[in-house]
Amino acid sequence: MERDKIMLDEESIPDKWYNIHADVDLPPPIHPATHESITPEDLSVIFPKELIAQEMSKERWIPVPDEVRDIYRIWRPTPLYRARRLEQFLKTPARIFYKWEGVSPPGSHKPNTAVAQAYYNAREGVERLTTETGAGQWGSALAFACSFFDLQCTVYMVRCSYEQKPYRRILMQVWEADITPSPSERTSFGKRVREEMPDTSGSLGIAISEAIEDAAKNENTKYSLGSVLNHVVLHQTVMGLEMKKQFEMMDAYPDILCGCVGGGSNFSGGVFPFIPDKLKGRDITCIACEPTACPTLTKGAYTYDFGDTACQTPLLKMFTLGHSFVPPAIHAGGLRYHGDAPLLCKLVEEGLIEARAYHQNEVFEAATLFSRTEGFVIAPEAAHGLRAVIDEAIRCRESGEEKTICFINSGHGHFDLGAYDLYHRHMLQDYEYPEELIREALSNLPCV
Ligand SMILES: *Cc1c(COP(=O)(O)O)cnc(C)c1O
Repeated sequence: MERDKIMLDEESIPDKWYNIHADVDLPPPIHPATHESITPEDLSVIFPKELIAQEMSKERWIPVPDEVRDIYRIWRPTPLYRARRLEQFLKTPARIFYKWEGVSPPGSHKPNTAVAQAYYNAREGVERLTTETGAGQWGSALAFACSFFDLQCTVYMVRCSYEQKPYRRILMQVWEADITPSPSERTSFGKRVREEMPDTSGSLGIAISEAIEDAAKNENTKYSLGSVLNHVVLHQTVMGLEMKKQFEMMDAYPDILCGCVGGGSNFSGGVFPFIPDKLKGRDITCIACEPTACPTLTKGAYTYDFGDTACQTPLLKMFTLGHSFVPPAIHAGGLRYHGDAPLLCKLVEEGLIEARAYHQNEVFEAATLFSRTEGFVIAPEAAHGLRAVIDEAIRCRESGEEKTICFINSGHGHFDLGAYDLYHRHMLQDYEYPEELIREALSNLPCV
């Protein structure tokens, strides 16, 4: 009898992260004023030394500290499931698997990096971390991580989410974080935005600017980012490294890997450990899935841009919709960022990873089918990757191919029931970001 839930023991939690920067050349981040490459000193105002070293490192393997592995043990290794009931429903000859990250206490993959970041900051004497959050997934992961290391946590939460989605805010407060709706009166950038746009519902770019300003202006305070950067993607490779072991245990290997992309951390963390095999000639299709309302990889430009709205961050070469882009309020709150991880963008640019965009309704249709066959109610973000899985499985039914398909199921949807409710009442709107608005946002790109 083949197993449907592939578990590893605690000893199999990876003791090294895989750094794809050793195998992929990346255009360097550059200083917005001088246009020179960024130096570690430039970053030391907002990040601790060890994370800066990881950000720039080209070592292929970076050790996971015992203290971090010890906390990972609370929920890792995570199961790899065979979605046999979904396969039967779809009548597909394909085998469908998913890596389930919904078992972490905050309910997503995000604590894989939050715990590591809190650890390195605490070890270097930092007392407070600032960050931004959209729907609250990253804020709750960092609040959770800070609680282990006696670190204070200040979260700038995008105002519309703060008002409309109280439960993740409450969760952050349970883990003793201090939450401020953004734009706020706590920073000079926040004040300026409120004067210019009193009714703004906020954006991730604005909240990032506020969190960075707070960290830069205060002693013993650093800033923490939940996606996009090289060190974040690095920490997330625990997922893909576990997946490789789990497939090995079954004597199997994925032909198709899918996942959703907001800033690119869960997708990269799940997929990057398989890329060396692909570079050696193994035939794997990797599909990065995003919303049509925030089509960074499918409609953005591959160029240098800021990570925030106030133009304070280093310029990163990435696919971007422009740092002034304010996406519509779709329900996959975690996928509303204007850029994506430079490492992921480089692989998309080189054609090693393909990108697809999906509408909300087709995504929720997939999510609902998943709940009715597999049981779990998954995050709307994760359901973007699932949509591609279902499309591929249907293709296999038509062609008769017995492919092995796997997706990174990045989190549960227990705080997204309002969106599921709207879907069931046929009140979800599909939104395609208009080409003219994309062109307008792209016209403000920095000249490099
Ligand atoms: C934040 C989040 C995402 C998107 O962020 P990435 O950095 O692209 O992974 C996806 N899924 C869940 C459940 C999230 O919380």
